[in-house]
Amino acid sequence: MTGLDAKFAAGQPAPQDLWEMDRRHALHPWTNFGSFEKDGALVIARGEGCYLWDAEGRRYLDAVGGLWCTNLGLGRKDMAQAIADQAERLAFSNTFVDVTNEPSARLAAKLASLAPGDLNRVHFTTGGSTAVDTAARLVWYYQSCRGQRQKTDLVAREHSYHGSTYLSQSVGKRPGDRVEEFRYMEAGIHHLSVPNPYRRPEGMSEEAFCDFLVAEFEDLIARVGADRIGGFFAEPIQASGGVIVPPKGYLRRMWEICRRHDILFIADEVVTAFGRLGHWFASEDVFEVIPDVITCAKGLTSGYQPLGAMIFSDRIWEVMAEGGERWFTSGLTYAGHPVACAAGLKTIEIIENEGLLANAAEVGDYFLERLQGLEALPLVGQVRGQRLMVCVENVGNKDSKEPLPDGANESKRISDAAEAMGLMVRPIGHLNVMSPPLVITKPQVDFVAETLEKAIRKVTDELV
Ligand code: PLP
Repeated sequence: MTGLDAKFAAGQPAPQDLWEMDRRHALHPWTNFGSFEKDGALVIARGEGCYLWDAEGRRYLDAVGGLWCTNLGLGRKDMAQAIADQAERLAFSNTFVDVTNEPSARLAAKLASLAPGDLNRVHFTTGGSTAVDTAARLVWYYQSCRGQRQKTDLVAREHSYHGSTYLSQSVGKRPGDRVEEFRYMEAGIHHLSVPNPYRRPEGMSEEAFCDFLVAEFEDLIARVGADRIGGFFAEPIQASGGVIVPPKGYLRRMWEICRRHDILFIADEVVTAFGRLGHWFASEDVFEVIPDVITCAKGLTSGYQPLGAMIFSDRIWEVMAEGGERWFTSGLTYAGHPVACAAGLKTIEIIENEGLLANAAEVGDYFLERLQGLEALPLVGQVRGQRLMVCVENVGNKDSKEPLPDGANESKRISDAAEAMGLMVRPIGHLNVMSPPLVITKPQVDFVAETLEKAIRKVTDELV
């Protein structure tokens, strides 16, 4: 037994010991090996509302919202109680074949009542990646049942993030994620241009840019054949690919193309659902699209339990169910997990009872407006997003929008500087990304804007 293991066995590791245990034994997602070996990880000990405390007792306002997920804020006793009650009553029961449980059945019905159009069918997963994986299979299954067995190609966009499993990561295409050590499914997946108005070609209006993007999709269909393309995947606002709000009318036009060609439209609302934009789902309420399938996770339980869901239309169900003798041979042990589903039901109840969609809309508008003030800073090219989903893009030259050199590492340095001042923001490439809990208040928003400004100024001075 090492000295550390002995301390662990004794039950009272000090903060420094926790840091060391993690540094020696953990492999974190997306962590740079070099800096991890040297610096280890920040050990978070507790959370309440929008705040986190580390193991040394320092407090941070978590403007990251976990990872786009702690929509209710942390430390809620009613959530803890609902989870504990369900764990005591029925901690687990599978939902394979013809068994179900009360929270899973109730949550499926509740999601059907909140989802747009005839999206009345729910398949539970363990998170967002597995919901996207399952949606790809649903495309293949549905098209095959319609007698369109060759309609299997999938279309998505550059810079999209749809998860980290083999298939969901192949559907997504964030530049930094594609590494030569891994394999990706290449055949039968097409990526269209990222609909980022800030980076549209020089001299092109936003309307013309939208026309260009729509034409690109139509060209792809003409080239590959509508009879070969089964589904189109889109985050309504691309989240970790850069909080990209597409040009006005873009999503609806892409949806209309899908409908014309019997291509299923899959809205990946893992981030945008459950209040982040002030609505249950963004597809219909913000973008006037009624998808065939919605994938969701994160805010569904507000991070209190891992859970994802694929919500799909009656029309798809009817095609698949017709003729009877078929099996959807896809599913996960923890699908419809009763404790996770109880957390989902309680999350939705709290959002309803406490008017959190309205709060997200009101404070979210203030959040974006307040942060847009940072565009006056020399390092900031654009602040974009919608309501409680915002990012700051740093540039080397504001006029030409030229990015900073990769080695500048400025967004990580900004997030480190903010962290030292009690604020968590997330660095991604040359962006600092934020998605705070829906319960954030205006004074807390002021703190975020003021602290982030100080952090950006500090790093700008160091860069000169
Ligand atoms: N889809 C989107 C849009 C996401 O942002 C994410 C995660 O950030 C995922 C899917 C994957 O979700 P998970 O990490 O729960 O598997």
